[in-house]
Amino acid sequence: MQLRYNFRLYPTAGQRQALASAFGCARTVFNDGLRMRQEVREKGLPYISDGDLSKRVITQAKKTSERSWLGEVSAVILQQALADLNSAYHNFFASITGKRKGPRIAPPRFRSKKDNRQAIRFTKNARFSITPGEKLRLPKIGDVSVRWSRDLPAEPSSVTVVKDAAGRYFASFVVETNDAPLPETDNEVGIDLGLTHFAILSDGRKVDNPRLLRRAERRLRKAQKALSRKEKGSANRQKARVKVAKAHARVSDARRNWAHKFSTQIIRDNQAVYAENLSVSGLGRTRLARSVHDAGWSQFVAMLEYKARRYGRAFVKIDRFFPSSKLCSACGLLADKIPLNIRTWECACGATHDRDVNAAINILAAGRAERLNACGGTVRPA
Ligand SMILES: [Zn+2]
Repeated sequence: MQLRYNFRLYPTAGQRQALASAFGCARTVFNDGLRMRQEVREKGLPYISDGDLSKRVITQAKKTSERSWLGEVSAVILQQALADLNSAYHNFFASITGKRKGPRIAPPRFRSKKDNRQAIRFTKNARFSITPGEKLRLPKIGDVSVRWSRDLPAEPSSVTVVKDAAGRYFASFVVETNDAPLPETDNEVGIDLGLTHFAILSDGRKVDNPRLLRRAERRLRKAQKALSRKEKGSANRQKARVKVAKAHARVSDARRNWAHKFSTQIIRDNQAVYAENLSVSGLGRTRLARSVHDAGWSQFVAMLEYKARRYGRAFVKIDRFFPSSKLCSACGLLADKIPLNIRTWECACGATHDRDVNAAINILAAGRAERLNACGGTVRPA
């Protein structure tokens, strides 16, 4: 399967300048291509083939005085910018004709210098490489310093260089992996999205967001407050805005790093993992807290899903159609409504439940049943 590996880049001042013009060239080719496709469409002319478009907005454009500077960057990044445009169109058409399921996809829009994310992609054809001195060699940019936070498991097939809103640079490598499954274990786990914690496990463990993340979130709130007090259009407001972008970046980094660690641990320790499907749950939380929490949860669940595939584990998402927190995990009896402030409750059968742990145990049971069903086994109704 294809995996992405992201690393921080530290380009020199000269390299930053070269990257800025490369971003600019890729953007120009993308926008020229988009404009041409739009004009053709408005005039009712047939769709220009990808090859023709490339000839017009790259090969021929380079020969004109207005676009001769396109020759100063690697041709591969220009072709890749057009490839992005073509696949955006492809997805858009597939979406309006109903060939593609899911939410409607908007037509491609023009890229701007002010976009929060600037990116260029080098494929193998561009001959990017990692030098003996462990730098990333990019054609017509130079040898860029990389912070290698982990090893690449195989040779990458492409690298995307990204500049984010906080002005940081990243290299995102695509690597084809072929992992051996992990040794089998008998453990299985149900995971509930807690109200008071990040996650509750069916073995009774309550896992909270790490202190590092909470601290980063506090700093972000502070920076946002400071920004709201600055006068519109002032230099101080601009400074405060950069601070907010940086604080945002720190929060998402901390969250991602921790989600990686936690999901790896869960996948390593369990043969099967069952987690609740967020899209059908999530009552009783305030809107803001919920959106932040839910974003972290979706990211975590997506990691569980691909790591399970990667290492030969089972992963099942459970729709929360059943009342997991008021169903007694010992006897299967449904309790009356349990108010949110009640953290523990006792069933008529005598079992005492921690509200969240009981829900995680029910998710484990529902996951097992679903997995058995999928394997063709028989499941006794509860
Ligand atoms: Zn009971």
